[in-house]
Amino acid sequence: MEITSETPWDGTPDISARIIVAIGRVASVLRAGMWEFATAENLNPAQAEILQLLKDRTHGVRLSWLATQLSVSPASASDSVAALVTKGLVRKDRAEDDKRATALWLTDQGKALVERMAQALGFADDAAARLNRAVQEQMLVGLFKLIAQLQKSERFPALRACLSCRFFEANKFPGSAAPHHCALVKAPLPIAFLRIDCAEQEPTDPVTERRNWEAFA
Ligand code: SF4
Repeated sequence: MEITSETPWDGTPDISARIIVAIGRVASVLRAGMWEFATAENLNPAQAEILQLLKDRTHGVRLSWLATQLSVSPASASDSVAALVTKGLVRKDRAEDDKRATALWLTDQGKALVERMAQALGFADDAAARLNRAVQEQMLVGLFKLIAQLQKSERFPALRACLSCRFFEANKFPGSAAPHHCALVKAPLPIAFLRIDCAEQEPTDPVTERRNWEAFA
């Protein structure tokens, strides 16, 4: 008879599985906080998410982009947007880069509501801020690496991240503490300062984007 050694920890899920469970739990808490806020403001969760996605988007966004980010059909995104326009939180106008297309922006009322939403969800930011700086940096880099892996599966919607930005110059200073460079602000970019949602981001071409994310993974 084959004898196998057993330890009390044999049934422990892999670290990778526990990472994903932990991320899912954090996401659930954030989602619950957002739903609570949305309900109090007479919004449904999709409408609240659209308002968050429009935050800091000075150039306006297309409906198709919103639908991709929300993983819903364009028709469903259109219904949510129409409700937000009626509430005076979102405005539609001609897109800056194509006068035949329409784009969406937050109104001043919408911006104020998004600010209140950020404050209502500030408990999560406060919790992260209480971690020591080294742990924060390790987690940030780890999450970037996880997103880089997910990008390979093409399941991850586009981000306004440095690695997808046309101003990002990868490894301009190899081996230094700040190996990358932002051509917009003309400054070296340490890994700890990489943005995941930058208001000034402009998408780079798909080949460069893929190369940046694959180099980071
Ligand atoms: S900081 Fe903003 S503008 Fe600069 S590379 Fe990153 S995303 Fe682009």
